[in-house]
Amino acid sequence: MSYICPLCNGLVVPEQACPHCLQGLSECGKLDDYTGPYSPYSLQTSSSMAEEDGNENGCIHMMYCHHCQTSTLWAVAQWDMSGNL
Ligand SMILES: [Zn+2]
Ligand SMILES: [Zn+2]
Repeated sequence: MSYICPLCNGLVVPEQACPHCLQGLSECGKLDDYTGPYSPYSLQTSSSMAEEDGNENGCIHMMYCHHCQTSTLWAVAQWDMSGNL
């Protein structure tokens, strides 16, 4: 099984709307980039392979709204690429 995050791999364009003002959100990278090894999500992944492309629960991305200056977390559902490779 091979799961990838479509957002990390540039396969999709983030088109999430801000829950507060409904403006388009900007993608600011993975949550892991902000929290590093102290992330509560990293505690769940013990294998080194899972850390490359997130974990099976989805890849958590930080989304930011420039309109109301609010950051939102977006759990991106990962794609199963095992049948396409
Ligand atoms: Zn991702
Ligand atoms: Zn907003």
